[in-house]
Amino acid sequence: GGSLDIHAELIRLMEDQGIQCSVSLEKEPHNDAVGVKKSGCHGFCEMGPLVRIEPQGWLYIKVRPEDCAEIIAETILGGRLVDRLAYQKEGQTYPTQEEIPFYKKQTRLVLDLCGHIDATSIEEYLAIGGYQAFEKALFDMSPDDIIRAIDQSNLRGRGGAGYPTGRKWSQVRRQKDAVKYIVCNGDEGDPGAFMDRSIMEGDPHRMLEGMMIAGLACGASEGYIYVRAEYPLAVSRLERAIAQAGDFGLLGQNILGTGYHFNIKINKGAGAFVCGEGSALTASIEGKRGMPRVKPPRTVEQGLFAKPTVLNNVETFANVPLIIQNGAGWYKAIGPEKSPGTKAFALTGNIENTGLIEVPMGTPLREVIFDIGGGMRGGAEFKAVQIGGPSGGCLTKEHLDLPLDFDSLKKAGAMIGSGGLVVMDEHTCMVEVARFFMNFTQNESCGKCVPCREGTKRMREILEGIVAGQGNPEDIDMLLELADTVSSTALCGLGKSAAFPVVSTIKYFREEYEAHVVERR
Ligand code: SF4
Repeated sequence: GGSLDIHAELIRLMEDQGIQCSVSLEKEPHNDAVGVKKSGCHGFCEMGPLVRIEPQGWLYIKVRPEDCAEIIAETILGGRLVDRLAYQKEGQTYPTQEEIPFYKKQTRLVLDLCGHIDATSIEEYLAIGGYQAFEKALFDMSPDDIIRAIDQSNLRGRGGAGYPTGRKWSQVRRQKDAVKYIVCNGDEGDPGAFMDRSIMEGDPHRMLEGMMIAGLACGASEGYIYVRAEYPLAVSRLERAIAQAGDFGLLGQNILGTGYHFNIKINKGAGAFVCGEGSALTASIEGKRGMPRVKPPRTVEQGLFAKPTVLNNVETFANVPLIIQNGAGWYKAIGPEKSPGTKAFALTGNIENTGLIEVPMGTPLREVIFDIGGGMRGGAEFKAVQIGGPSGGCLTKEHLDLPLDFDSLKKAGAMIGSGGLVVMDEHTCMVEVARFFMNFTQNESCGKCVPCREGTKRMREILEGIVAGQGNPEDIDMLLELADTVSSTALCGLGKSAAFPVVSTIKYFREEYEAHVVERR
């Protein structure tokens, strides 16, 4: 909202002063002296609203409508930096975005264009090479070539499980059905996570391009994007992007004269966390209640409308054009070989620089929290980070040098999940953290199976009792016993992982649980 106020104020002031200013790259001639455009999220949320000045690359932070007159007088007309609006730390001024420590240690590939292009303009996406990967796949590659490239890149699904994307695509391609579907999971529901939202809002065409390449590879002619209705800007930008791609002959019948046809539809979800689970998601698109089902059959065999389906998340699809364009070898050289590429994380909690970041897989947690995140807010001591949302676990000081990748985190008993990082300082009560996540999961349990429906309820009651100072010493072991039962018997991933935050907080902070219950004795 703040950014939109600034955008409107800059245009209003320029009109008042008679400065020729383009505000829409689609409709207007571009021979004006100045252009003002709305972009997607730059990621530096703590410092927003942000204004980036091109071509200098200057970044103005915490801009207020009353700063706009100075920006026009000094920068637009005078060509000078407004010092007080630039990022400053420890007496040093960082005029350009690229110099700011928050950005310097990042590798922004998937988020590269977010905050730089006008997400409502296909012309801008095309101008920087957008849809060239799709054209390459369409004209120069066979479906097997595409799948081989994705397979050799070792791209792993960014939705949480890290399943190899190329393997998933080849499993769908092998199915004999004439009808197949490509489904994009944009149902991001973890507390504190907004990576997919930023991609859909800031660079929707890249994700569409990834889906279109998947369609070519797997022999599908229809795609669905499942996006939560609480993301209205993402929905409208995707709708616009799909219509624009259709107008340019990139979607629809006889694409670019090749006879290939592919369409993408949007399905708005009602915000149920469980609909991020594959079979619940496809049921929801079909108009049924979003409840997981027993597997097999797997989604690649019988997914949407019981047809073979590729289901990947937003970030996974957004990686695909980069791999097709630059090659599997280029991609594999970024990060560890078995977990290559970058990962977007949403940094939240008691940290200086909250925001959206992208780093190579394998980047140590310490670098993310202290270099990019700027350390703990107010100089407090780092205590833990909850990674992977309600399905993840907590990492502590002993994990600060742990590389953030699928395999290292699994070994440490956590998971990368979709990429939410909630950083906690020394003042955080870990029992309360466990209660918060258990409350979330319990509310989101679909109720289909007893272990999850009843087990999470009982665990929440116990945690509420402990937090309220009414717990008993045996409650801690009871929590672990229930966690074991729920994890091993629940039907879907939501139930199987519901107890992870409880188990990991007991593992690393048992003394806090004991302090709560001992006081009662
Ligand atoms: Fe529903 Fe929980 Fe069972 Fe999953 S584990 S099917 S969310 S009740």
